[in-house]
Amino acid sequence: MTSPARPEQMHAISEQTIHTVDDVLDYARRRALYEDVPLDKPLRPNDLARLASGSITDGGIGARRAIALFENVLAPACISTDHPGYLSFIPSAPSKASLAFDVVVSASAIYGGSWMEGAGAVYAENEVLHWLGREFGLPATAGGVFVQGGTIGNLSALVTARDAARRRNAEAGRPNPARWVIACSAEAHSSIASAAEVMDVDVVTAAPDAGGRLHGDALAAVLDAHEGAVLAVVATGGTTNFGIVDDIASVAAVTKERGIWLHVDGAYGLAAMLVERMRPAFAGVELADSVIVDPHKWLFAPFDACALIYREPSLALQAHTQKAEYLDTLTGSPDWNPSDLAVQLTRRSRGLPLWFSLATHGTAQYRATIEYGIDLARRIADEIARRDGLSLVREPQLSVVVFRREGWTAADYQAWSDRLLEEQRGFVVPSSHAGEPVLRFAIISPLTTYDLLVDILDSLA
Ligand SMILES: *Cc1c(COP(=O)(O)O)cnc(C)c1O
Repeated sequence: MTSPARPEQMHAISEQTIHTVDDVLDYARRRALYEDVPLDKPLRPNDLARLASGSITDGGIGARRAIALFENVLAPACISTDHPGYLSFIPSAPSKASLAFDVVVSASAIYGGSWMEGAGAVYAENEVLHWLGREFGLPATAGGVFVQGGTIGNLSALVTARDAARRRNAEAGRPNPARWVIACSAEAHSSIASAAEVMDVDVVTAAPDAGGRLHGDALAAVLDAHEGAVLAVVATGGTTNFGIVDDIASVAAVTKERGIWLHVDGAYGLAAMLVERMRPAFAGVELADSVIVDPHKWLFAPFDACALIYREPSLALQAHTQKAEYLDTLTGSPDWNPSDLAVQLTRRSRGLPLWFSLATHGTAQYRATIEYGIDLARRIADEIARRDGLSLVREPQLSVVVFRREGWTAADYQAWSDRLLEEQRGFVVPSSHAGEPVLRFAIISPLTTYDLLVDILDSLA
């Protein structure tokens, strides 16, 4: 304790650092291969303070104790998003290959922001982005970057769209509008409003049709009412609440006619386009100026990764490249620098876990695993429709099933949900639709079985 700390102690290869690395990797290996992932549950701040405080000290508590604290106290106070009974929000279900490779990404100290530093990693990430772009029908010249999540992906795409609109105005000698506007459906994800807030622009919404889908006709009226001010239209390729895919083809027809940027937010749902029979539902995506899809949602990669793809990446470079003297050596080169395509500079090569898993298993495996979720949603929806006292709020289109338990109040749903978690059977938080409390299953994991879902339905009796 009193001996002065040697500067290299944490970094040098020594008995101590070797043991630390071994202990950490042993735990990682065990967690990655758990037969039965515990669902776990959060603790109150004062309980955690009682159980886990005091870990930051002058002399350190040592790796053994720190890992034990994590394994025995901190980790069980985190809900396992990869548990098959985790059906809230959008679950996470990383493939074993992808989560193991995430450890490699950490161990490799790769700077993923520039070609000069991370060429090999950037190349592999681009292989994945180009494969996705082709699946979505984008031209071979499309390209992009993996960013932290859909929120940053949407923001980055919309900033690029505004920059492109400003440049077009400047070239044409047109003034910019007093207020820029983003047009989307009333069902669009909250991150669109968040992006608008950051950008200090307005959002105008078009009413979705009876099926919850944004359609070109409703959009056209909104665009005409805001002529010259719309920087982009956002279509959703699978809403988070219901998994509804907008009528992207009719939306694209309207944006192309007016020369307005079309962004497709497919953070959750666009992965379904990898399933052949689902492709028609996404017609029009091939006309998008930018798209996003989150590998940490339905592409079985660990948190956190969003694939952001532009039809014309050069427009993103113009909007996002940071200029600084210490960066001149990078920005002066024609290399592919992922940092320059989004709101970011330093970046983890967060696309590599997906690259490794895709390379390992092949694309057919991905298509089959995504299709499993769609089929399971259909099966359990049919079971819900058959049961007395339960009814569907809407037929599922992707892998989200929203339903109600007749006669229950919001408090009933909450009490049931708390009990389900307490009994460690599942994590299904109450949701609401048009002011009505409802339940929602979001299915991602191929380990989520029909029997498990039926067991949860039984508990609603
Ligand atoms: C999840 C989601 C987002 C936000 O993505 P994050 O990765 O959570 O930031 C945006 N749009 C849609 C449609 C989503 O489902």
